[in-house]
Amino acid sequence: MAPVSPDLGSKPITEWARLCEARPMSLPSFGYQPQRVTTFSAVDLLEYQGKQFFAQFGIPVSDGRPVTTVDEAVAAAEAVGYPVVVKAQVHAGGRGKAGGVKLANNADEVREHAGNILGLDISGHITRILWIEIASDISEEYYVSFTLDRSAKKHLGMLSKEGGVEIEQVAVENPDAIAKIWIDPVDGLTEAVCREWVLAANLNPSVTVGAVALLLKLYTAYTDGDADLAEINPLIVKTDGKVHALDAKVTLDNNAQYRHEWDEYEATQVRDEREEAAHAKGLQYVGLDGTVGVIANGAGLAMSTLDVVNQAGGKPANFLDIGGGANAEVMAGALQVINDDPNVKSIFINIFGGITRGEEVAKGIIGALEMVNISAPIVIRLDGTNAEEGRALLAPHLSDKLVSKPTMLEAAAAAVELAKKN
Ligand code: GDP
Ligand code: MN
Repeated sequence: MAPVSPDLGSKPITEWARLCEARPMSLPSFGYQPQRVTTFSAVDLLEYQGKQFFAQFGIPVSDGRPVTTVDEAVAAAEAVGYPVVVKAQVHAGGRGKAGGVKLANNADEVREHAGNILGLDISGHITRILWIEIASDISEEYYVSFTLDRSAKKHLGMLSKEGGVEIEQVAVENPDAIAKIWIDPVDGLTEAVCREWVLAANLNPSVTVGAVALLLKLYTAYTDGDADLAEINPLIVKTDGKVHALDAKVTLDNNAQYRHEWDEYEATQVRDEREEAAHAKGLQYVGLDGTVGVIANGAGLAMSTLDVVNQAGGKPANFLDIGGGANAEVMAGALQVINDDPNVKSIFINIFGGITRGEEVAKGIIGALEMVNISAPIVIRLDGTNAEEGRALLAPHLSDKLVSKPTMLEAAAAAVELAKKN
């Protein structure tokens, strides 16, 4: 059966958006964890979207249909032909082990499996979408992924002949079974290097040519497609000897959105309520589990702020970057989002004035406090351009609910202490 690009069906985007219920995740399924730099703008694809993405780069995937009801599942199975695999579409791995991947030989079996899998909770992700694809006859299951190794400033490729649902165990018990290469983005992945990589991974020699061809396409998909992660587990050898992607885990870099048509993928992203609210206000926000709400200007400063909160013995409740313009409206929006989080016990506003001047920031904060009634105490550290003027403006407003500290560390300590008291 010839690989065909997956049919995406005809549901309106908004409907897909409602159907997905999950938090994004963007690391490989196992093993080597590149230094975890939080990516605030990743777009995680569901398996069927990942396969559509792969198909655009000529990577063979199975024909299938995304569906949302049992009846649609049966119709899809009739259309692609039996046997089919009924697969839960959630932003989580380990679907097979959780009962979210089932083989069906006829309409009754599709009906049974689709009925069981729709609504199934897989690691906290409720299944709303199924992917019905033609079943493949498998002779080998491999693993491959490309991801960014930030500390090496290179792309990391991982390849193993021991792929499939036990890959996590392989990574722990037999790490040598995973062949790794680091690829300089300037050099790219050459065919010669790719061939050596395939040999190092000890894949079945009879598939070397097919495997090299697929891996080169996957590398192109990963780089030209602006992905942060492209993983296939299992990458299968079919009984007819063809190399084929049986699963797809893809995370795209949202910063490259302008170069692509990703609306369909964006629509199935599900942020938590706080993230949704912040996103609507145009704020860069990531919800975390702690009690100190964080507002900073610039992503770098926001990240350092998370670090000093941790250093001071506290836990940040969020990451929030208000960007360059710290005017009253932006500040009020940021405070509103944080104020709505019941876990927040104190708020740490950490601003370093650059182009934005200190007195503008201070006016912004004072204006915001008039616009929003904040329940948690606020600690402000204001530094940089015209910081003294800013602090002077804030001075008459200071109280035990609005504290100013000269340094980042002192401010973090005060915010953590207040969070513990509340
Ligand atoms: P995951 O558990 O979330 O990674 O889901 P996968 O898509 O990787 O499927 C899990 C396992 O189901 C695979 O490793 C295969 O062993 C099996 N599987 C999935 N699709 C097929 C298929 O078309 N044919 C056969 N024989 N097995 C399949
Ligand atoms: Mn898999």
